[in-house]
Amino acid sequence: MSKPFTCPHCGSHDYAIVLTGCKVQGATIEESFSWDPLTSEYASSGPIITDSESVDNEAGEAVCSNCEKDVSDAVSAYEASLGPEVAEA
Ligand SMILES: [Zn+2]
Repeated sequence: MSKPFTCPHCGSHDYAIVLTGCKVQGATIEESFSWDPLTSEYASSGPIITDSESVDNEAGEAVCSNCEKDVSDAVSAYEASLGPEVAEA
């Protein structure tokens, strides 16, 4: 069993990674729509890539899901601590 990532700011184990400038191949993209009766419009989650053959990105940022602070450095350190055998999903 491996240890979870821990946010250095609030101690949460959940985080999101936002990649920008992506070149994606063979991707499956999902977009959810939910009806909002207050505005009488559909609200969209935005396109979400659920699967892809490969993703090349120019820049990435990790954000804590709890306190929304930038935890890129901490996530990098966490991934490095897992060692090279993380490719197996
Ligand atoms: Zn946090």
